[in-house]
Amino acid sequence: MYRQARYDEPLLSEISDDTPKTRYCKAPENPPEDYIPASMLRKAPPGIPEVSEARVVRHYTRLAQMTWGVDTGFYPLGSCTMKYGPKIIEVVADLPGFRDIHPLQDESTAQGALWAMHELQELLAKITDMDAFTLQPAAGAHGEFTGLMMIRAYHEDRDDKERKEVIVPDTAHGTNPASAAMAGYDVVEIPSGADGCVDLKALEAALSENTAALMLTNPNTLGIFEKDALIIAKMVHEAGALLYYDGANMNAIMGKTAPGALGFDLVHLNLHKTFSTPHGGGGPGAGPVGVKAFLEPYLPSPTIKREGEVYSLDYEHPKSIGPVKAFYGNFLVLLKALVYIKSLGGEGLTEATERAVANSNYLAEKISPLLPIPYGKVWKHEFVASGKALKEKGYSTVDLAKRLLDYGFHAPTVYFPHLVEEAFMVEPTETETKEEMDAFVAALRTILEEPAEKLKGAPTNTSVGRVDETLAARNMAFTWKNVNK
Ligand SMILES: *Cc1c(COP(=O)(O)O)cnc(C)c1O
Repeated sequence: MYRQARYDEPLLSEISDDTPKTRYCKAPENPPEDYIPASMLRKAPPGIPEVSEARVVRHYTRLAQMTWGVDTGFYPLGSCTMKYGPKIIEVVADLPGFRDIHPLQDESTAQGALWAMHELQELLAKITDMDAFTLQPAAGAHGEFTGLMMIRAYHEDRDDKERKEVIVPDTAHGTNPASAAMAGYDVVEIPSGADGCVDLKALEAALSENTAALMLTNPNTLGIFEKDALIIAKMVHEAGALLYYDGANMNAIMGKTAPGALGFDLVHLNLHKTFSTPHGGGGPGAGPVGVKAFLEPYLPSPTIKREGEVYSLDYEHPKSIGPVKAFYGNFLVLLKALVYIKSLGGEGLTEATERAVANSNYLAEKISPLLPIPYGKVWKHEFVASGKALKEKGYSTVDLAKRLLDYGFHAPTVYFPHLVEEAFMVEPTETETKEEMDAFVAALRTILEEPAEKLKGAPTNTSVGRVDETLAARNMAFTWKNVNK
């Protein structure tokens, strides 16, 4: 991993192969004058804008007011689990002992941090029924990529090199096929049956001695639990392939069942979804990967080792796929997850699942008379309605979604998954009340009776109107600008 050298580190040339990797930060006693080469020294002060404190505070306060977050209101963005994160997680993550440590600090001075990571690994292993975890991946998709690299290492280790295909059902999260392709695999998509679950005949036809793995998002993106998960696991193993579980939405099953118990070999979790941490705007996340014991040798290095009461970073993994992230992962996100898990406890986590599922089913029942839900009769943490019929009224799902903003609700995910025409994907999460969900349904009902023009021009009550999303993504403005001008 690349990083900038710090003044108190030895020059790279001083690091020999024998230098323990965690000891890079030993400061030279008397840094030489030319420690930083003259050509790299700044000759003039940096051109930082000079503005008064008041203007800076107003700038950021205004930006905060323009933003929507779970602390502002209901945020039913399907597949993203935008739930309320208890403030205790922020308090702990802000303790100086955690906040101010440096990743290159000597292990003996970071025992508390190492304990926290080790403890989290053990708890995640329990929750998922896995044997070992890496905390390095910084996001769900990153976890998938890490898992696929381990799958490849496993097959290659056994001299089983023809396995070039990864099977992905069409109800998978979009990152699954993308990660498989990034990892160099050929993606084989299989269609779902009429019930929205994996079609076992299609799976059987796709499985062969070329199959490296099956990636299963469960519950799938229709919010439906794969009823044949056990049979699927058996079929895939019999073909000599591995089973990857996309557990980003663990809040749908945690405490009830676990990927390991269903026969899966690897799983990633999204700590920034199920286990708290605000994650709007692509902020820092964590996508730890759990594996069954036979895959442990391939875990990214270093792992965290415990000997008695002493914790250390273990680099001795000859079969490791290597590090996948600078240092040891997004430490404060890991810490927040640990606090969340410890404060809820096993029963609390199970209750979170029950509430997430109960809320989703309550809302589905209320919404289905307004917008039909083509797949499923009972759902897990989310469901996908269809705005197909809206076209007859002269507008489409995106207009409905934008109009919801005017009523003080964040829009659900729209146009995903592709299986549902004009998809409207709602995930209420366990932290919403019945009152909040009822208000959301009432707003939907009101909007559906409004004339088309109201929706076409929406949103009109927000600080920013409808943006050209393609232009916004391609032409990002990162510089400070006076938004009042
Ligand atoms: C959110 C999500 C992902 C991707 O996670 P990122 O952290 O956004 O990379 C993968 N799979 C499922 C099922 C998800 O919901």
